[in-house]
Amino acid sequence: MTSNNPQTREWQTLSNDHHLAPFSDFKQLKEKGPRIITSAKGVYLWDSEGNKILDGMAGLWCVAIGYGRDELADAASKQMRELPYYNLFFQTAHPPVLELAKAIADIAPQGMNHVFFTGSGSEGNDTMLRMVRHYWAIKGQPNKKVIISRKNGYHGSTVAGASLGGMTYMHEQGDLPIPGIVHIAQPYWFAEGGDMTPEEFGVWAANQLEEKILEVGVDNVGAFIAEPIQGAGGVIIPPDTYWPRIKEILAKYDILFVADEVICGFGRTGEWFGTDFYDLKPDMMTIAKGLTSGYIPMGGLIVRDEVVAVLNEGGDFNHGFTYSGHPVAAAVALENIRIMRDEKIIERVNTESAPYLQKRLRELNDHPLVGEVRGVGLLGAIELVQDKATRKRYEGKGVGMICRTFCFENGLIMRAVGDTMIIAPPLVITKAEIDELVTKARKCLDLTLSALQG
Ligand SMILES: *Cc1c(COP(=O)(O)O)cnc(C)c1O
Repeated sequence: MTSNNPQTREWQTLSNDHHLAPFSDFKQLKEKGPRIITSAKGVYLWDSEGNKILDGMAGLWCVAIGYGRDELADAASKQMRELPYYNLFFQTAHPPVLELAKAIADIAPQGMNHVFFTGSGSEGNDTMLRMVRHYWAIKGQPNKKVIISRKNGYHGSTVAGASLGGMTYMHEQGDLPIPGIVHIAQPYWFAEGGDMTPEEFGVWAANQLEEKILEVGVDNVGAFIAEPIQGAGGVIIPPDTYWPRIKEILAKYDILFVADEVICGFGRTGEWFGTDFYDLKPDMMTIAKGLTSGYIPMGGLIVRDEVVAVLNEGGDFNHGFTYSGHPVAAAVALENIRIMRDEKIIERVNTESAPYLQKRLRELNDHPLVGEVRGVGLLGAIELVQDKATRKRYEGKGVGMICRTFCFENGLIMRAVGDTMIIAPPLVITKAEIDELVTKARKCLDLTLSALQG
């Protein structure tokens, strides 16, 4: 609580007295006081101290079309006046949800024409788990319950979401994972590849799926879930050999493949979906975040036609949320997709901003702290190390957090995952803004190195 601004101090007092923040150390946050973000435009945020900050994380990976688009506010306002709420439980529907389902089917991979809506990505994955088990039960194989997931994957923070995810620090709190969810190794060469080449490691990591299927028994496995690129785990881009080998294994065994597209979906890789980028053929795709550019909460599950055909034979699916397909959220999502399409935002990522960001980011490879720069589309990661050649980390120094703090102080939001700095800026970021991002990142790497040496 160091601010001289009485308004900031007042908000921080409210935070201390009344607010429990997600993924936070409550006591530590009380001592420091949160930074209060008050407004935003384009790729920039402003805080209550008047600082202008380049948001290298698009909020939490979600603000695809950038902040401050009046069209989304207008779409919400119009829908609120017309029909602010109605549920979809008892054989009713409303125009925005139907139009949105069609708009999503139009951009989704071929043969994926149905959407179940939820309020978030976590709820999308809860829906997936129940739908997968329901699907196999209808097919007369009720034992196919187990979902295979990956260590250090992120699939949300509900009980099912956190269980599907492979974050040990989440599992430690509350006896997770729940039964019926098992995890295999992740394709994170930089941290776990050892002496293998990335190509060898990619095949090894993919083969873990086959080993797990055989260990659990294919008659007991319902699905494999994975992010095309792990986001929260540290922007982990699998070696080129990984997805082709996974596809071979999936083709061999009768299990469903679920792509968690909550981060990769809606243009992040320069294609509509991460599965387009890697040419995967999922049976289900979880969506959220970029679906509404984060302007309003909404998630969902896109389902392949063959799966829907089976579900059609199963009677009631006893699952849904009060806010499934909320009309205001649907109207905002529709307008968000319209803007992405009409303004060719994803094409521009693909042809202009992604190549430029990836080129500029890789210039940081010459920095003494940097062990690897990697990225795809508008996703990037910078590995901070003590020794470039051996990929050895600075042990116990919290280098990532030091760097993140310098970034915040210097007007840039980069997130730290351990000692991996990650970025995922709004898709509308310009070349000049990318220059600013990279210049600031280098400055903060310099400051971090001095702090380590000082
Ligand atoms: C954020 C995220 C989720 C969870 O979404 P929420 O809306 O926070 O529930 C699920 N999967 C992935 C890959 C995510 O990044």
